[in-house]
Amino acid sequence: MDRLILWDFDGTLAFRPGMWRGCLIETLDAYEPGHSVCADDLIPWLRDGFPWHAAETPHPQLGTAEAWWAHVGAVLRRAYERVGLAPERAAELAVLARQRYVDCSVGWRLFDDTVPALEQLAGAGWRHAILSNHVPELPALVEGLGLSSFVERTINSATTGYEKPHPEAFAVALRECGHPGEVWMVGDNPVADVAGAEAAGIPAILVRADDGDSRRRAATLLDVAAHVS
Ligand SMILES: [Mg+2]
Repeated sequence: MDRLILWDFDGTLAFRPGMWRGCLIETLDAYEPGHSVCADDLIPWLRDGFPWHAAETPHPQLGTAEAWWAHVGAVLRRAYERVGLAPERAAELAVLARQRYVDCSVGWRLFDDTVPALEQLAGAGWRHAILSNHVPELPALVEGLGLSSFVERTINSATTGYEKPHPEAFAVALRECGHPGEVWMVGDNPVADVAGAEAAGIPAILVRADDGDSRRRAATLLDVAAHVS
């Protein structure tokens, strides 16, 4: 039997402390020393505008890194403006924040159980792929974090134009992975990962999360094997 696990990336295999707001604050710390912005100030301005905030709408027009970052860069610029930066400086900082966010050597880390779980499941005959709502540079992050030897394929919303939980995000993943005979989705988001996959006919496991009413949960990635075997 051809068996595949689709993994969410952010919050499941890897994480960046503070997420986007953390990156924006780190950028201010580096280039605006003495600033008085705190992460909570940025939250209201990062709740909307990212492609995954409108997952019901495909975005083929954002299919290049330039187009994607023109769109998201405007969100970052607006956030900096709203917390008091002058428009020109906000635009400069947004570019610097982009550079920082896609740098796998700054901030990004794997969870401790990521590699052991991937190895354990590979040993049991499971192939691995990533299905993520993420930045265009995700494949380089996956490589830079040392995951490319475990993961056959990275299917990324920035490239496909479909954000989870859109059903086509899962359909594209199944197509690109050759319609495996058995497939599971594993992720930390009860809506995008679990409900989306199940609506697309893919059984799913919620990991690392307390919310949601998912039938299948795993506290750590090492507990995934108990569900899929
Ligand atoms: Mg996630």
